[in-house]
Amino acid sequence: MISYSYMDSIKNKVKNGDTLDENEIVSLYDSANLKDLGKLARGITDEISGNKVSFVSNLILNYTNICNVRCHFCAFYRKQDDSDAYTLSIDDVVNEIKKYYEPYGIKQLLIQGGVNSFLNLDYYTGLFSRIRDEFPGLGIHGLSTSELHFISLKAHVPVKDLLIKLRENGLQTIPGAGGEILDGSVRKKMGRPESSGKEWLDIMEEAHKLGIHTSATMMFGHLETSMDKAHHLLSILELQKKYHGFLSFTPWNFEPGNTELAREGYKYRTGGISVIKNIAIARIVFNKELPVIQSSWLTNGMQMAQMAILFGANDWGGTIYDEKVIPATGKQVGNLRKEFIINSIKQINMIPVERDNMYNSIKTY
Ligand code: SF4
Repeated sequence: MISYSYMDSIKNKVKNGDTLDENEIVSLYDSANLKDLGKLARGITDEISGNKVSFVSNLILNYTNICNVRCHFCAFYRKQDDSDAYTLSIDDVVNEIKKYYEPYGIKQLLIQGGVNSFLNLDYYTGLFSRIRDEFPGLGIHGLSTSELHFISLKAHVPVKDLLIKLRENGLQTIPGAGGEILDGSVRKKMGRPESSGKEWLDIMEEAHKLGIHTSATMMFGHLETSMDKAHHLLSILELQKKYHGFLSFTPWNFEPGNTELAREGYKYRTGGISVIKNIAIARIVFNKELPVIQSSWLTNGMQMAQMAILFGANDWGGTIYDEKVIPATGKQVGNLRKEFIINSIKQINMIPVERDNMYNSIKTY
């Protein structure tokens, strides 16, 4: 167990806005008392956003499941000739959005898919400009760094120019997908190129330099160590201090069902304590530099999302219609109507605030 004096020195550093070092973060993961973590983390969040908890009415659209990367932690991807492989046409995507845009007041479209070598840059520019024109109130939160990296290579367009072109056609923000754990050796074991962690940071930095905001994520509960997570958080913090381009951070737990990692022996999802510990430590490490920590109900469920708020998160996430990545693991997700989110936030004596894709408040309930 971490000593009182060591925990006090960490609390003092946090209070003074000093960055924790990697060994201090590892101590928080391995030896700190969970209640101490929660109290410290929630205290920081209270100073940032008080008892307000934001959420967004969103739609997740996975436009293709064909992917040439084939990560060992992913149950979603298919090969081109698999019977259930699919790619949505631009018309398909538009028709899908129409089902939700007006009836549910959708404000954010999270659109991402596999790294599909059959699609050209024209598909993406055509897709985004059509969505922007037909659904002017929708913020397009699109494409993982893996997709962006591949599109840039295939089109022979540098990432910077690609981002400018996509923004001109309607892309508003970039999700944090592809972050997982940034360490190269962990990524290699997960079936990712070793350099893909640096690639994630480089693309995020390029976006932030252009003034394009992005999200950050971390996937935990597989073969990573506490030190890997400490390095991951510190890499994100370092970039955040340069441009303040990350709008939010979402730690989410690995879902093993139907994945290569499960076949390799990583069969069980991590428990609730790990979920709230990761939320609390993220808040403590990011302190006020990265104001929004999101409680991902998609992988953790509604009750854990409530616990995550009490341990330092201040954004619920979205309503999520039609997501296909987590259901591919065998986990049932469903959709969450706005009313349920509002009720869940009120159940823990917090104030629900609906927001848009850029985290601007729309309505307080
Ligand atoms: S996580 Fe993304 S890049 Fe990796 S296999 Fe799945 S769809 Fe492809």
